[in-house]
Amino acid sequence: MKLIAGLIDLLFPPRLACPLCGSPQEDIGVCPGCLNKIAGYRREPVCFRCGRYFQRPPEAPVMDEAVLCRDCAVEGRFFQQARAAGPYQEELRDAVQRLKYTGRKGLAAHLSGLMFQAVENNPYYIMAQVIAPVPLSPERLRQRGFNQSELLAFGLAEKMKIPLLPVLRKIRETPPQTGLDRAGREANLAGAFRIGDPGAVRGKTVLVVDDVVTTGSTLNNVSETLVRGGAATVICIAAAAGRTFPAAVPAGAGSKK
Ligand SMILES: [Zn+2]
Ligand SMILES: [Zn+2]
Repeated sequence: MKLIAGLIDLLFPPRLACPLCGSPQEDIGVCPGCLNKIAGYRREPVCFRCGRYFQRPPEAPVMDEAVLCRDCAVEGRFFQQARAAGPYQEELRDAVQRLKYTGRKGLAAHLSGLMFQAVENNPYYIMAQVIAPVPLSPERLRQRGFNQSELLAFGLAEKMKIPLLPVLRKIRETPPQTGLDRAGREANLAGAFRIGDPGAVRGKTVLVVDDVVTTGSTLNNVSETLVRGGAATVICIAAAAGRTFPAAVPAGAGSKK
């Protein structure tokens, strides 16, 4: 039977599909249409700090990218920059959800490739020395069987040629952040993360990897944990980032480090 199946494959090769949009194609990997669309996202204005995409163009003239969103302008962030492959919508949202909820782990390789493309020429990211994925709580990890951020981090570590260090621990499950205001999100996450091995990050530029930047609160909390644990600088990257509104405040404000 195996021989016959092999013969059939040879005569009628299985059609390959784009991992993002599913359209049939000749090659393995993201199709030219999706690559084009994602390249277009890279030209959209984003918050200089958290990398979220603006709902509408900033009111202030965009000088380079030095415009912050309201959250980054008001709260400040413990990371220098966060960036994503594109906005959390359409194909990217579907891909992240299929990776997380249907266990399509192969998608992590494609998504990490797009994440790498988003930052390969960004000076902040060239400085990264170690890669640390945002952890799941032990309870959630048991449920899901894998940590999607660790799979993304694995792909990035390979492409960036820096070590993957899963040093962060999430010591308790936190309810979803959606619907919480800023104070609520902070209270929700307070003390949720720990560093397993502080020696591994001390004095280092750490690149934190997450699946989605929604409010930036999780990345901020993880970054605070790392900075307080001795990391020199924290930068972040995600497969996708949400949309938000610009604040008319110059960049330079909004950094807690
Ligand atoms: Zn496609
Ligand atoms: Zn921001």
